[in-house]
Amino acid sequence: MVIFIFSALIGSLNVVLFSAYQIAAFNFTSAAASVAIWFYFQFSRNLKAASWLVVAAILFNLGAFMLAAKGAAYSIIWLTVLPPLAFFLLGRLAGSWVTAIAFVVTLSLLVFFQSQLPTLKFSTGAILNIAEVFIILWLVFRFYEGSRQAAFQELKRLSVIDKLTGIHNRSRLDDLLESHIHLAARTSLPLVVILIDIDHFKQVNDRYGHLRGDAVLQQVATALKSRVRITDELGRWGGEEFLLLCPDTSLQEGTQLAESLRQYIAGNINIDGEALTLSFGLTEVRQQISANEAIRQADEALYAAKDSGRNRVMVFLQDSKI
Ligand code: GH3
Ligand code: MG
Ligand code: MG
Repeated sequence: MVIFIFSALIGSLNVVLFSAYQIAAFNFTSAAASVAIWFYFQFSRNLKAASWLVVAAILFNLGAFMLAAKGAAYSIIWLTVLPPLAFFLLGRLAGSWVTAIAFVVTLSLLVFFQSQLPTLKFSTGAILNIAEVFIILWLVFRFYEGSRQAAFQELKRLSVIDKLTGIHNRSRLDDLLESHIHLAARTSLPLVVILIDIDHFKQVNDRYGHLRGDAVLQQVATALKSRVRITDELGRWGGEEFLLLCPDTSLQEGTQLAESLRQYIAGNINIDGEALTLSFGLTEVRQQISANEAIRQADEALYAAKDSGRNRVMVFLQDSKI
């Protein structure tokens, strides 16, 4: 849209102020092309192809303008708009190649036509200056796009990971739970949802301090993570509670897994000799229910586990109260 307005505006200026009809025709062509690309994107949703088309349209426009102006009227200066657009639209690798090729081709043509075109009156010094500006632009945008991409990846990673334990965070779990329930309902493969809560964790904090409590949370997360399948999803639901999603798992298999996790933690993690224990609440999802309902069921089972003495696995029984 921006390109459309810009091209149409510059095209009109060229007609009104400079009577440069040929260049204006190119501007209007690119205005039309930008509208066509916009419609193509709306229709196909193919962002990559649309980005390449935009860059191709920009290259065509710049090239046509420089050729029409025969390198005069500072037309080469327009090439400096290429790196920000190409790197932004195509990414670091393709942006680097497109920009480098466009710069090298332009400089080569500049040197080649030097003697033949009277409108091209660049001194060697001027050409060297242009080359230096091109190189600096290329390096700066390459570096900038690289660091922008790295920062974006890190932000993306942090937005789905629990900072303390390194497993999925609540926001990611919300999405995973939603999509796994849909999958279970669609494929008829059962999903087991397990809420896990550390027993008497407040006492750990009260006795040994918050930092020790944090270390225990990390220890529990690592132990659980290493003992579930790669296809299972483990995350921190909040505080000292974890959520484990086991797709394609029956209630019986899920109960066995929870029981083995319970025994492992009780037998292997202790705080100054006192065993740390976990309580588990399980529910099986076989049809489309809301994520809230799945959590409510697992929570009800967890509450029953706490109520009946902790350090145990309890299952939500469908159609009957526990
Ligand atoms: P219960 O067996 O009934 O689950 O008892 P509990 O003490 O584990 O449960 P309660 O809900 O009373 O306390 C949970 C505690 O977890 C309280 C809170 O200080 C602690 N906690 C929550 N998040 C963190 C955290 O990120 N780090 C630490 N160190 N402690 C946390
Ligand atoms: Mg709790
Ligand atoms: Mg607890």
